[in-house]
Amino acid sequence: MPKLNSLRHDAPLDLHPALTNEQFSAALDPKLTPTTSLPLSAALNHKQVQKRWQQIDIRHARDHLLDPQTAQNMARYEKNIEHFIGTVKVPVGIAGPLRINGLHANGDYAIPLATTEAALVASYHRGCRLITAAGGVSAMLLNEGITRTPVFSFYNLAEAGQFVAWITTQYDQFKSIAQSTTQHGRLHDINVSIEGNHVYLVFEYTTGDASGQNMVTIATNAVFEFILAHAPVSPQQAFLDGNLSGDKKANSHVLRSVRGKKVTAEVHLPATLVKKYLHTTPKNMVEFGHMTTLGATLSGGIGVNAHYANALAALYIACGQDAACVAESAVGITRMEVNAQGGLYACVTLPNIMVGTVGGGTGLPSQKACLDILGLAGKGKARALAEVVAGLCLAGELSIVGAFSAGHFSRAHHKLAR
Ligand code: NAP
Repeated sequence: MPKLNSLRHDAPLDLHPALTNEQFSAALDPKLTPTTSLPLSAALNHKQVQKRWQQIDIRHARDHLLDPQTAQNMARYEKNIEHFIGTVKVPVGIAGPLRINGLHANGDYAIPLATTEAALVASYHRGCRLITAAGGVSAMLLNEGITRTPVFSFYNLAEAGQFVAWITTQYDQFKSIAQSTTQHGRLHDINVSIEGNHVYLVFEYTTGDASGQNMVTIATNAVFEFILAHAPVSPQQAFLDGNLSGDKKANSHVLRSVRGKKVTAEVHLPATLVKKYLHTTPKNMVEFGHMTTLGATLSGGIGVNAHYANALAALYIACGQDAACVAESAVGITRMEVNAQGGLYACVTLPNIMVGTVGGGTGLPSQKACLDILGLAGKGKARALAEVVAGLCLAGELSIVGAFSAGHFSRAHHKLAR
């Protein structure tokens, strides 16, 4: 029997009480026996792909992953994947239309969502219908920018100080070096953070319609090499990124700044619409919000939201965004209040929406098709996409809070997933 307090500890001996020391060693020790290596090469062509499948040699797997359309479009994946063997088909559902009254997104959006999670699309669709019935969500892009953060170490603080004094004279030079690597990226600021004899430089960029992670890496690397070649004090050690950028990590710093695009979105919902679509009351939803905000605080979460990650993962996968950025994007604040008319005021603020409408995976066949459904493929559309993302997150927050408040959360999953 596990002890009552076993959840407080990692307890392998409780989980595997019957294993002997020899059995643990046999399972966990390194094994140096030879293995067959796969024929790997970054080249993406029929010959290489055939070679890989010959070695994998599982016929039905090949039929599913390397279907005729994937084989025909193979060349389009070349800049997005190494050791290509095919594509995975993720089911895509459509939610909406969601009416967005934004500074950049304006209109009714049908939103493709790629997921294997039952009830997800239905839940977002319900939230979209509710918001649209109330006239739509107001959405405002507040800020945008993305950073790369090189780090340098020196013998002592005096050297670090001299280095930073030189850095502050080089801003124009850095800007023109960064500019030489990209047409659409702009280095617009540099901040300095000193910790003892370590210096972190925070290079802040805007990246046009690209989400920009590659762009800022390439631009910062060019500046980084210039610094190493010309700094009056040579660092003892230097790395291109000192992990201050928040790249693919949730962090609390962004709640007051931005990584990617920061958007806030709100809606006022009459109590009658809350009743009609969510089968509950604004008061009940607000009380749920109070208690779960405390729960989020007790759990040590960053920000407070119910499930931004569901919308973000499904939309990022459908639309060719970097799905791993959900780690940083799913941070933000959801707030609900009873308004002066007895209806519900609800808002979301997401400071970390990492989306682009060019670059990355946005040009791949099915991902571009999903952006086309939104009408947001290509140049000039990234800010609108960020406002749609925030509106979608708000729709999801309303639907899930409504489901818990009405006591329907488990019922919906039981009905749709079982
Ligand atoms: P990218 O595809 O590497 O770069 C965007 C490209 O589109 C650039 O060549 C840019 O040219 C061009 N472009 C054309 N029109 C543009 C416009 N209107 N606005 C902006 N760019 C335009 O994409 P990225 O957004 O920089 O990088 C995204 C990818 O980086 C994601 O797939 C992600 O997985 C990956 N990633 C990389 C790192 C890393 O550290 N390298 C980290 C995390 C993720 P110009 O540059 O000449 O403007």
